[in-house]
Amino acid sequence: SIVTRFAPSPTGYLHIGGARTALFNWLFARHHGGKYLLRIEDTDKARSTPEAIDAILDGLGWLDIAGDGEPYFQSAFEARHAEVAHALIEKGAAYRCYLTPEELARRREEAQAARKPFRVVSEWRDSAETPPEGAPFVVRIKAPREGETVIEDMVQGRVVVKNEELDDFVLLRSDGTPTYMLAVVVDDHDMGVTHVIRGDDHLNNAFRQLTIIKAMGWDEPTYGHIPLIHGADGAKLSKRHGALGVDAYRDELGILPEALSNYLLRLGWGHGDDEIISREQAVEWFDIDHVGKSPSRFDLKKLESVNGHYIRHAADSRLAVLVAARRGGLEGEDLALLERAMPELKARAKDLNELSAAADFLFAQRPLELDEKATSLLDGIARALLGRLHAALSGVEEWTHDGTEAAVKALAEAEGLKLGKVAQPLRAALTGRATSPGIFDVLVLLGQDESLARIADQMW
Ligand code: GLU
Repeated sequence: SIVTRFAPSPTGYLHIGGARTALFNWLFARHHGGKYLLRIEDTDKARSTPEAIDAILDGLGWLDIAGDGEPYFQSAFEARHAEVAHALIEKGAAYRCYLTPEELARRREEAQAARKPFRVVSEWRDSAETPPEGAPFVVRIKAPREGETVIEDMVQGRVVVKNEELDDFVLLRSDGTPTYMLAVVVDDHDMGVTHVIRGDDHLNNAFRQLTIIKAMGWDEPTYGHIPLIHGADGAKLSKRHGALGVDAYRDELGILPEALSNYLLRLGWGHGDDEIISREQAVEWFDIDHVGKSPSRFDLKKLESVNGHYIRHAADSRLAVLVAARRGGLEGEDLALLERAMPELKARAKDLNELSAAADFLFAQRPLELDEKATSLLDGIARALLGRLHAALSGVEEWTHDGTEAAVKALAEAEGLKLGKVAQPLRAALTGRATSPGIFDVLVLLGQDESLARIADQMW
């Protein structure tokens, strides 16, 4: 049965390219009823940090694509990696190389000066010479020098490399620690990984990794190297494009996890013209055949529009909790008020920041600060009208949408004014803005006392 994995190096935040790789692996496994593993590749101790590990686990959990079972930590298997390196030496497929770092640096410089590509050709590859006693060494693979290596990639198709282009890369460093190239192959084999789906920046590595796999006589995994995400201008996505960690999409931009997940799915994979695709649908439909071969372009506007859709469809209670947290943790009555207001508030918001801003009027302190447009709505005539509205609304016995509507409409009629002419100054007084949810909803949400007090603050 199928086993996929996501294998991030914890050297920075979980970026959206990584999140999309994880999502594709998750979906591929789910679609085929297989397993999806998470392996934290923390063998580079100088660059791995606990914060990065937390950010990865946190981001994947939020997107609901954490691995099946506990995550693996690659550093736990270092002894096993070394064991395989030594098995390769035994088989004659790897060798101890005693070239010193200084000697390698000298050869690299020489190649550079001659404008030739640098490839390590170690005389220790086939040497029968006895090594210097106690001298440090690295273990190198004996890469094939003839023929070619072929990968039938699920995304890229058939890719061929001439073996003379492969080098005797390092498996074990002189301190005995494994390189990424060795560790990834050993772990994938030991964990029974059948499908390796990852960014196409790893395609070159796949040919090197196959050298180890073939030498060990292991099953070759099926590869799927997916194109990277580019910015709107077509260049590789970078900080300059606002390439943020997944946590920033949540905390700073106010994106819902199902929206980011849906957007990332559509970025590089398609199912006809469908834009909104639920997780369930995605599991049913997902396949690697419909992953595009060319890089996809990140489009924040599109993400926001997908997010708006999910906000409109999210439960009011959930949105209230999310907005409450963004407003410093509202509870009790305030939280209940937010939830009551949510059906009106969520209709137009693209993200949780806008949703929270739309709720400002609910919690504004009297006397309200009016924005510029609201101020311009409240001229002398409007303020006098507010006085008469105050009287009319004071008499309302049933403070409901219909009850307040009847009173406001009756006044508008008596004044010979269109409803909008009355509603605009009323909105300005109640919310401090020129736009808000429907005016009768606003009246009901604020309640009679608060509404009358806000009107009284502005009326003449
Ligand atoms: N740890 C590698 C990285 O973060 C990925 C390894 C792989 O997917 O093979 O780039």
